[in-house]
Formats: sequence, structure tokens, C-alpha cells
Amino acid sequence: MENMIKKIAILTSGGDAPGMNPAIRAVVKDALAKNIEPFLVYEGYKGLHEGKIESAKNINVDKYINRGGTFIFSARYPAFKDPAVRQEAKEQLDKLGIDALVVIGGDGSYHGAQLLHEMGVKTIALPGTIDNDITSSDFTIGYDTALNTIIENIDRIRDTMESHSRAAIVEVMGHGCGDLALYSGLATGAEVIVTNECKISPEEIGRIVKEQTEKGKNSIIVIVSEHIYENIHDVAKIVEKISGKGTRGMALEHLQRGGIPTAAERINSARMGMKAVELISEGKSGLAIGIIKGATVATPILEALKIPRTDRTEKTKKFNKLNQA
Ligand code: ADP
Repeated sequence: MENMIKKIAILTSGGDAPGMNPAIRAVVKDALAKNIEPFLVYEGYKGLHEGKIESAKNINVDKYINRGGTFIFSARYPAFKDPAVRQEAKEQLDKLGIDALVVIGGDGSYHGAQLLHEMGVKTIALPGTIDNDITSSDFTIGYDTALNTIIENIDRIRDTMESHSRAAIVEVMGHGCGDLALYSGLATGAEVIVTNECKISPEEIGRIVKEQTEKGKNSIIVIVSEHIYENIHDVAKIVEKISGKGTRGMALEHLQRGGIPTAAERINSARMGMKAVELISEGKSGLAIGIIKGATVATPILEALKIPRTDRTEKTKKFNKLNQA
């Protein structure tokens, strides 16, 4: 039966990501278009528990279409693992007569979404994280913008490294997934790409930097995924000692998280947001939305959490070979 759902809420949870705002806008506007009243939950699961919920009927969501971050705020709220807390959170929705919930977040948020689904809240999850580590989608909301931000910054780093014949060891985010490192490495021609799948020692990086310098490379860029080395500055010191080339270590940190969402980001976010509302209006629940091979798809959240990551070892080797040639 069409339109049994009268009210839906949306929240953003975990690490923020550019593209969350255009996704929220799409959910709100598409709900309105389907005569469903949209509600905003502020501060993720924390705000859900505390009842920080308001109708979006009279909120101008259009102005956030080109803004990074999430205008409904995000939070980390470990208390949500407690069933009693989740029950109280569900009651906040019941009190307002809200039938369904859209959760935008990473895999941690997906666990929370699955548990709400099991408690009878109609829940749909959207992949929101710059790390691209949600395997039920080729692209997560935030990944494309973060990738472009990294590329832009590495281009800048290259300018100064080139002027002083230096090497830079640049650490990027990824939370165990090497995609940001791998593809920014390909796009910037980084001489060395290090991910969890292709770890090498600082000494080995030093030897490659030396070899590349001897081959005539003036500047060297080494991109590494986070959490591989304890201290990027110590890695730089070792590389400098072995290669004899002035080496600087730097982590791009939170600047990777911000910024204006790219065209691809806004388009993918809107498509996934609309898909969420479509499924909710059909009474569906417990699904994770993604874009796979260009198509907008839905996978049960439980399954989505179990899909193994594609092994990129060969790809990483191939890109390293290309950039070192
Ligand atoms: P992300 O969603 O970006 O992976 P987190 O792992 O920090 O970020 O998860 C975001 C939030 O999701 C947590 O702070 C918590 O509120 C909720 N969450 C995470 N894991 C669980 C779980 N196993 N059960 C219930 N809620 C969870």
C-alpha cells in the first residue's frame, strides 16, 4: 500500500563527510514530494536518544547543497550499544509518530542502524565516510571530495618539494582502506604508495627514494595510509638518512574531511538519498544503499557489513611500477 509511511527522520553519525548535506537535502525534499513529513535528528544517535528532533517541513535545506560537513551535526555515542538506551531512542521516535529513519554514517553507524531495524524501526542506511570503506557501495559519500582535496594538496606539496629537491612523506586517511592513498597516488604520480595491503619499511622507502633520485627525479612524493607507521616524522628522518635527500613528513589530517562537495559527490548523494526515500515509502527496512557499477542498489545491512573488501595488492604494485618508471 502506497504511502503508509507518514513521517521519516534522518540523522548523520560517526565521522562527518562532504556530501552528507546534499544527501540530507535529497531525503528531505523527496519525502516532501511524496507527502511524507521529514524530521531532522541533531547529533546522530546521541541526539536521537536525547530527543533532539524537529520537523524539516519549514527548514530551507537547499542552502546546504554545496556545503561540506553536516548541518545536523554528527556525534560518536558509544552508549548506543546499550539496549536500554536504544529502547529510549526508539521511544523518542514513537512519541512523534515517526515511522522510519535514514542513517548516514560509516560501518559503526550501520551496526546501530541494524539494531534499530531489529527493534522494529524502519531503517535505511546510507554510506557516509570519506574512507570508502563500506563495501556495499563503490563510492561512499565524502570519498570523491576527500580524494580531490588530497590531490589538490599534494600538487601544492609537489611544487615546494620540486623547488628544493626534497622528498615528502604524506599521510592520508582511510581507516584501514587504502583507496584514498592508492588513487591519490595514481592521480598525483606519487613515486611510492604505501597501503595496508602493501606495507614496506621506512628503510625500504629510503632505498626507493635514493633510487628514484639517482634516476633523475628531483622531487619525490610518498603517500602512506594512516595507522601504518607510528610517527610520520620518524619515517621522514629514516628516509632522509638512507636516501641522502632532504625529507619532510606531514599528515593531512582533518583538512581531508572538509570542503565543498564535488559534482560527483552531490549527484551520488542525491541519488542515494532519493533511493532511501523510495524504499521507505515501499515499507522496506534494514537495507544499505550503494552505487555499484553505476546503478543505485540496496543490500541488507547485515550482508553489507560482511562483504569483503576487494584486494588491491596487484593494483597498488601496478601503480607503484607506473609512477617509478
Ligand atoms: P562510523 O559510523 O563512521 O564508522 P563509529 O564507528 O564511531 O563511526 O560509529 C558511530 C556511532 O555508531 C557510534 O558512536 C555509536 O553511537 C554507534 N555504534 C557503533 N557501533 C555500534 C554497535 N555495535 N551497536 C550500536 N551502536 C553502534
